[in-house]
Amino acid sequence: MSFEKSNKLEHVCYDIRGPILDYAKKLEEEGQKILKLNIGNPAPFGFEAPDELLVDVIRNLPTSQGYSDSKGLYSARKAIMQSYQAQGIYNIDIEDIYIGNGVSELIVQSMQALLNSGDEILVPMPDYPLWTAAISLSGGKAAHYICDEEQDWQPDLDDIKKKITPNTKGIVIINPNNPTGAVYSKEILLEIAEIARQNNLIIFADEIYDKILYDDAVHHSIAALAPDLFIITMSGLSKTYRAAGFRQGWMALSGPKKQAKGYIEGLNMLASMRLCANVPLQHAIQAALGGYQSINEFIKPGGRLYDQCMLAWRLLNEIPGVSCVKPKGALYLFPKLDMKKFNLHNDQKLVLDFLLQEKVLLVQGTGFNWHKPDHVRIVALPHSGELDDAIHRFGRFLENYKQ
Ligand code: PLP
Repeated sequence: MSFEKSNKLEHVCYDIRGPILDYAKKLEEEGQKILKLNIGNPAPFGFEAPDELLVDVIRNLPTSQGYSDSKGLYSARKAIMQSYQAQGIYNIDIEDIYIGNGVSELIVQSMQALLNSGDEILVPMPDYPLWTAAISLSGGKAAHYICDEEQDWQPDLDDIKKKITPNTKGIVIINPNNPTGAVYSKEILLEIAEIARQNNLIIFADEIYDKILYDDAVHHSIAALAPDLFIITMSGLSKTYRAAGFRQGWMALSGPKKQAKGYIEGLNMLASMRLCANVPLQHAIQAALGGYQSINEFIKPGGRLYDQCMLAWRLLNEIPGVSCVKPKGALYLFPKLDMKKFNLHNDQKLVLDFLLQEKVLLVQGTGFNWHKPDHVRIVALPHSGELDDAIHRFGRFLENYKQ
């Protein structure tokens, strides 16, 4: 007798922590040093959380032994509400804010509460694959709309329109984007809002990188641009505040909530079924949002994150057969490899070959639901010296590579 995974998981895929990571772990167990450029986890690369977050968590620990409200601590939700008001999103009340164990938990809950079998959600391609995985787990179908590499990875509006069917319930926007580093223009966001308005779609705005912006990039929250639409905006402590292990994320419901009464009942039920998010760590939220925004030191020229991102971008473009759009935000680069030159047909094999030969771990583009085996994602978190070394190894590996 054997125990099998449920049918629900048959089409669920999350390759960022997928099979290639198991190979990397095996190599590490054999004593090999692997440079992991596969996960956007800032603290282990020396991007530590601001001290004031730790101080608030430690101070509040003795009084955080009980459960909190399912939606989260009042003080933390108030801080989130005020930060959205400061961004021009006014129609949010404390009760419209839900704190979760990371944005990840809220992505899954937001899909589980909404979707019936056959319902469709528009998702960017490439995407952060948890969205597609959560939709599949919930019995829905992700309809991937193209983001156009030639247009700095902005969403292709015609493709969005083409992919709307009577079953389409919502659209996901990841801005700034993982994995492409794109930051969407106000014009594009207004057009997406218009498409949502005309087709009665819920907008899911994943804005976890909203404060990680380079050069002249400006982030616009779509909820501020379209107050008449029902929008769920998500963010958290993992990236801007470098506290991914704290597992604190939130979502804020804005717009005509009466229209979504039934869905909100579903969200409330799922929030209460998991009782509440980790309580002591919720105390970091107010400290983070109200405190000194130290991320700004990292993202300006001369700051560690900016310099590393730009170094990686420059070095990738120096490799024959590789081209990379300059990131405007977030923590990643998503370079394109010349399919003909390398005779590419399997990017998972490419990533595995690179790991075995050069001991550097990347994630293949198809892991982000990209439709061709011609991209990889690189995390720009390691110090410049390590990044330089890793990208030079990538160049050396590609010199004679053919599939
Ligand atoms: N959304 C995007 C676009 C991400 O890149 C990530 C993590 O990499 C998440 C959500 C999940 O973040 P959290 O740590 O809050 O679960």
